[in-house]
Amino acid sequence: MEIVQYPHPALRWKSSDVKRIDASMRKTIEEMFELMYAAKGIGLAANQVALPLRLFIMNETGDSQEKDAEFVFINPEITSRKGSALGEEGCLSLPELYAEVRRPNEITVEAFDLDGQGFEITLDDLPARVIQHELDHLDGVLFIDRISESAEKELAPKLADFEIRFRNLQSSGDVPTDEEIVANLEAQVTSLTQG
Ligand code: ZN
Repeated sequence: MEIVQYPHPALRWKSSDVKRIDASMRKTIEEMFELMYAAKGIGLAANQVALPLRLFIMNETGDSQEKDAEFVFINPEITSRKGSALGEEGCLSLPELYAEVRRPNEITVEAFDLDGQGFEITLDDLPARVIQHELDHLDGVLFIDRISESAEKELAPKLADFEIRFRNLQSSGDVPTDEEIVANLEAQVTSLTQG
């Protein structure tokens, strides 16, 4: 498992609901936490490790010792949004790239935890922003889709660099082609619906 970078097609994938939480899913989530901490992130969505599943993890402290701050959101849904706030965002799939994004400041989210228990939580400020950013990933939406036109212009050369780098990795065979990646995501979705 590894964190994929823009413009990997998994980042544009609209993910499927999780149907079953089993030992292999727990292992997957454990690995996602390890990757997130290693990359100094505070949130990571399944799309970012090329899994077409509606789940993400969060630890707003970014500290692997702070187990109480670890959250797993499975099949999450935002049920309420309040206020509006501008804040800087980055993404482990777009390293070193930052921009201001306007989002609701307070949200209520419903989800299932790793024990399959439903829960509801209302959060504001940073964790609310992380949740909205990660939930966007599950719909194939990136924070760069939500930035101002002027920020978009400013970031365009950097995004072009990401694009060139990714296409080079594909040309050298270090990364599968878009067609292969999409076929793999589709195969995973098929095995999910059959399982
Ligand atoms: Zn992200």
